Amino acid sequence: MPAPAAATLGLPAARPFVGPEELAREAGFSSLVRLGANESAFGPAPGARAAIVREIDRIAWYGDPEAAELRAALGERLGCAPEHLTFGSGIDDLLGLLVRGWLAPGDVAVMTRGSYPTFAYHAIGYGARLETVDYGGDGTVDLPALAAAARRHAARVVYLADPDNPSGTSAGHAAVAAFAAQLPPETLLILDEAYVEFADDAALRGAALVSNVARLRTFSKAYGLAGARIAYALGVPELRAVLDRIRLHFGVGRLSQAAALAALADDAHLAGVVAATVAGRADYAALGERLGLRTLASQTNFTCFDLGSPARAQAAVRDLLGRGIFIRKPGAPPLDGHVRVTVGTPAERAAFAAAFEAVLA
Ligand SMILES: *Cc1c(COP(=O)(O)O)cnc(C)c1O
Repeated sequence: MPAPAAATLGLPAARPFVGPEELAREAGFSSLVRLGANESAFGPAPGARAAIVREIDRIAWYGDPEAAELRAALGERLGCAPEHLTFGSGIDDLLGLLVRGWLAPGDVAVMTRGSYPTFAYHAIGYGARLETVDYGGDGTVDLPALAAAARRHAARVVYLADPDNPSGTSAGHAAVAAFAAQLPPETLLILDEAYVEFADDAALRGAALVSNVARLRTFSKAYGLAGARIAYALGVPELRAVLDRIRLHFGVGRLSQAAALAALADDAHLAGVVAATVAGRADYAALGERLGLRTLASQTNFTCFDLGSPARAQAAVRDLLGRGIFIRKPGAPPLDGHVRVTVGTPAERAAFAAAFEAVLA
């Protein structure tokens, strides 16, 4: 085989995610109780399912590269013009485009060590230099340290997930807005809002546009459409103009666009999912209390349980997998002694609780 580019060969072989299908094959199960990828246990809106079935008759056609109908509908809901919205095949795709758009090889990007890994995957892949700051001792994102690192390194990009994954914590709208305002003028803030629907602070769900911020939202979590791969960037029109130069124009499929459009129209389903998730978080907090484990205050659809040491957390992940239950463990301190568990259905939560208690014993 002809040699690949040296820069590509130099990349680490590690992937950001080993999927539950592969874990199931390795553990000898046909499927797992999926509480490790923060997928929705409550599924998509019935209308989204029906839209996919209807749209199958036109599957021979590409999806609309402008996603015009969807952008108009979403713009109306958010109170912004369609020029402020760009769709991609998941936040993971949009992160790659933003990195390619804003980071030349050698440019510095800043993020929290151990936060959601796809940004780092792309940044390293495009040859950027990644600088990290640690979570605070309480497992929350250290915004002052992140802002200081951005200034110190004259970072071109800062990545912040709020609410954060894997901690599940949120700084709240006012703190995030103040953080964005403190960044150097040459710094783009990539604000990953994958879990914003689950947060108590409704102000996080606004559509305020600041010229140095790219806000990313997805249909993968609260809308229950992770397998459809559809998400959007919200920002000033100049942001879309850059993304238009590099995005894959047929990258978002017809079925996904139709499903997202229908999902947007079902507020009752979304509210039901959020309420069921909040109830599940309370369940997990009570479980932690019963088992003598501290839990982090979650603003997402998952909860982190503190097992006290990385070895104990690793063992819990392994032993639960042996019982057919898929969860994950954060990789970096101070969260690496925790396990992260997605809110499942009541039946899945009961199965998890019983197995968790057994493996800890
Ligand atoms: C799950 C998750 C994503 C992935 O979003 P997709 O739209 O499915 O690519 C992005 N960011 C964070 C913080 C996540 O937890």
